[in-house]
Amino acid sequence: MEPETIKALIRRTHEVILAHAEELTDLDQAIGDGDHGINMKRGFDAIAAAADAIAELPCGKALEKAGMTLVMSVGGASGPLYGSLLMAMGKAMPEAPDSVGDIAKAFQAGVEAVMKRGKSEGGEKTMLEVLLPVATSLKDAGALDIGVLRKTADAGLASTKDMKATKGRASFLGERSIGHLDPGARSSALLIHAVCDVIE
Ligand code: ADP
Ligand code: MG
Ligand code: MG
Repeated sequence: MEPETIKALIRRTHEVILAHAEELTDLDQAIGDGDHGINMKRGFDAIAAAADAIAELPCGKALEKAGMTLVMSVGGASGPLYGSLLMAMGKAMPEAPDSVGDIAKAFQAGVEAVMKRGKSEGGEKTMLEVLLPVATSLKDAGALDIGVLRKTADAGLASTKDMKATKGRASFLGERSIGHLDPGARSSALLIHAVCDVIE
């Protein structure tokens, strides 16, 4: 992957997280501890600060370094979880990915790492409500369909509203977590859209 493309991905994801930090924090205020926007901003500020060094690396190593940066800079649950996603994705990425299949396999490995790290699965009102269907849609795709990816992410996010949280801080609220979108699912959807903005 061209360094310029990696830089564009870093720039766009950073921009989107900054623009929505307050919204993420508001969502987390409703069912968590109100720091998701701050956590994501801190993580993506750190990635942006390392953009030049990351962009020099081959795609897989770049993902690993970005993931490591998240783990090191973010205190909340989301840091290690998104860090695991990117690190495992990077490890599974071939040196020169040349098909949707390569990306799908790497993304699937990333999502599995989130589940392992979080001891979580779909249906628990977390970021996995977005990540899992996106992984499936990538796997099933013969060709990359950006519109489908965007819709899949949005539908996954929307599905969290009526769910009861059984993982993460929102699970402490039990039934009272119902009726709110999950902050991590919102940040996942934002990140998917940001990547789509760059590659479409
Ligand atoms: P913290 O909960 O430590 O304050 P954040 O607020 O940054 O961390 O992130 C919260 C988000 O992390 C949740 O909205 C949820 O999507 C995600 N999350 C929390 N725990 C898990 C888990 N075990 N598996 C998957 N995602 C999780
Ligand atoms: Mg929080
Ligand atoms: Mg916290």
